[in-house]
Amino acid sequence: MTTVATERVFNFSAGPAILPDSVLREAQEAIWNIDGSGIGIMEHSHRGKVFDKVIEEAEADCRELAGISDDYAVLFVQGGASHQFFMVPANFLPDGETADYLNTGKWSQGAIKEAKRYGKVHLSASSEDTNFNFIPTGADVKPSDKPVYTHFTSNNTIFGTQFRDEPACGGGGDSFLVCDASSDIFSRPIDVSKYGLIYAGAQKNLGPSGTTLLIVRKDLLERSARDLPTMLRYKTHAENDSRYNTPPTFGIYLMGRVFKWIKSEGGLAAMAARNEAKAKVIYDTIDASAFWNGTAKPDSRSRMNVCFRAPSEDLESKFIKAATDAGMDGLKGHRSAGGMRASIYNAFPNAGCEALAEFMREFERTNG
Ligand SMILES: *Cc1c(COP(=O)(O)O)cnc(C)c1O
Repeated sequence: MTTVATERVFNFSAGPAILPDSVLREAQEAIWNIDGSGIGIMEHSHRGKVFDKVIEEAEADCRELAGISDDYAVLFVQGGASHQFFMVPANFLPDGETADYLNTGKWSQGAIKEAKRYGKVHLSASSEDTNFNFIPTGADVKPSDKPVYTHFTSNNTIFGTQFRDEPACGGGGDSFLVCDASSDIFSRPIDVSKYGLIYAGAQKNLGPSGTTLLIVRKDLLERSARDLPTMLRYKTHAENDSRYNTPPTFGIYLMGRVFKWIKSEGGLAAMAARNEAKAKVIYDTIDASAFWNGTAKPDSRSRMNVCFRAPSEDLESKFIKAATDAGMDGLKGHRSAGGMRASIYNAFPNAGCEALAEFMREFERTNG
């Protein structure tokens, strides 16, 4: 029998993912009439006063949250994180030169594939041989001598692993760090000054799909690896404050509200403490059991995506179905990882982690 949820369920989706209740309620009103303007947010000109305020506040709140200095541009662009896979090498990697990439999952592979179109790629580390179940550190990371930049994926959404610190990089002062932070941006404090470029698709931790946040060091915008179409140059978007053409206005609005929500909840340190505690509820359940198995090595575990398996695929299907019926949606793992994945981004409540842990213990008791 199909049931229709009249209330919202616990949404463990990996992305697009859960957004804060208060943000959604406020957006409902803003879609109709924002700031008493008599016009909804999606209907305002991107060059009008109402939207000026929206984008200026979004940028200011973003800077405040992460302590981003004036040496960096904060940009809102379209195309998703996948678009950045080619934008980074197209803008920064000259023909014949090398960039280092850490191969830690499917999204890293996507970035590597595109970089090879433009220059040479040195894999400074890879966890592919063990189906990406760990984050390479120490002697497992072998940087090249002179990479233009080093690219890594801070949280591997599909395999449930997460870097604890920035990876070791090769090169001197000219070389810089690039991060795909799509699935853990603003889930913990970040020292932006260590990076040349951070990019993040919005739909995991920041807002609706269709907007990508870029934090880029301004001096890098003067470097240009080749002659690119206007829209594909980072510099175009920086010079025009993200409004060279029509930006994703609603996405920027919503991301701005999420920034305000994070601020009101105590900022990035508070997010980190909360996310750590939430993840612990589920990992503790896995570790206390011989039935459940976490797929990531414990020291590499993600606080955003908890991946785990049951003793058989039949039991996994049964569990996912039973969980869905019990109001816990989106627990099926990615097809390349199998099993289950509980995505518990910033907006995901602790009560949902407790409910899942309880449900797992009960399922083990009746099926173990
Ligand atoms: C989801 C995700 C992507 C892909 O994002 P799109 O916006 O769909 O292109 C890339 N990298 C990471 C780490 C992701 O989690």
